[in-house]
Amino acid sequence: MTERRYDPVSGEWRMFATRRQDRTFLPPEDLCPLCPTRPGHPPTEVPLPAFDVFVFENRFPALLRQPPAPDVESTDLYPVAPSAGANEVVIYSDDHHLALADMDEARIARIVAVWADRYAELGRRPEVAYVFVFENRGVAVGVTLHHPHGQIYAYPEIPPRAQRELDMAGAHFAATGRCVYCDVVAREEADGVRVVAENASFVAFVPFAARFPYEVHVAARRHAPSLLELTDAERLALAGLIRQVVGGYDRLFGFPLPYVMSMHQAPTDGGDHRHLSHFHIEFTPLHRTADKLKYLAGSELGAGAFVNDTAPETTAGRLRAAGGA
Ligand SMILES: [Zn+2]
Ligand SMILES: [Zn+2]
Ligand SMILES: [Zn+2]
Repeated sequence: MTERRYDPVSGEWRMFATRRQDRTFLPPEDLCPLCPTRPGHPPTEVPLPAFDVFVFENRFPALLRQPPAPDVESTDLYPVAPSAGANEVVIYSDDHHLALADMDEARIARIVAVWADRYAELGRRPEVAYVFVFENRGVAVGVTLHHPHGQIYAYPEIPPRAQRELDMAGAHFAATGRCVYCDVVAREEADGVRVVAENASFVAFVPFAARFPYEVHVAARRHAPSLLELTDAERLALAGLIRQVVGGYDRLFGFPLPYVMSMHQAPTDGGDHRHLSHFHIEFTPLHRTADKLKYLAGSELGAGAFVNDTAPETTAGRLRAAGGA
């Protein structure tokens, strides 16, 4: 079964892809499907002996270009739709051990360029309303392959969190005539106390009302709706700040810190979101301390209300001291 079902209670679409149960789960390094295909060895996902950055369609997709017909019938109460869209995997390099945190800026900038290309290409498809670039790093956040890689989901609707941000940005714009994220960036620069690292084009900070203790947002200083609007110099600056943030995480914790990295950009549904969408990346590690995770429990899962047991100003200070800056 590969289909999307609409939940009339929450107003959200959910994706179903039961074949994903068959996914490769944490294979040993010599059977890694994301390594290059080496002479004399069985083929991997990459039919090349070496590569720089490589993108391919997920073999167990929840969204795909030519989706099958849904298994169940659509009704007024329970709409069902084909899983139109795309799931892509972005392999960051052909080195099985080279994480973003350990790369130089130039290599991360080449990955940024690939993200921008895929955003443009997938966003041009008429059925794609939102291109979501992300990375799950570490077993704690459900990684099934160790080889450093990220993913791209191209959704046929704007997903719930992105829609919520757009709605709030719309309300802020109506009230003030300004982009809410521009106001946030200005306030973080003025306060300084939650800033983790910054450069000429980007600022990284722990949000004033962070959900997770070590949540960090990386935002463009100027109002750029997507990666496509960034100049080469800005992309290099972004690469530098990504490197500082993930490197700071690993130095502070003393091990490769698991996180989810989410990129929020303008939807590609044909609407005019330029004044409301402000490009930013959200890093959400689950760790509270080196040996304790923040679990989403009653208040978060049942009510959607986050409780954070650390002050963002304190965690920002620790990340800054760890060489985030
Ligand atoms: Zn590998
Ligand atoms: Zn803005
Ligand atoms: Zn966001």
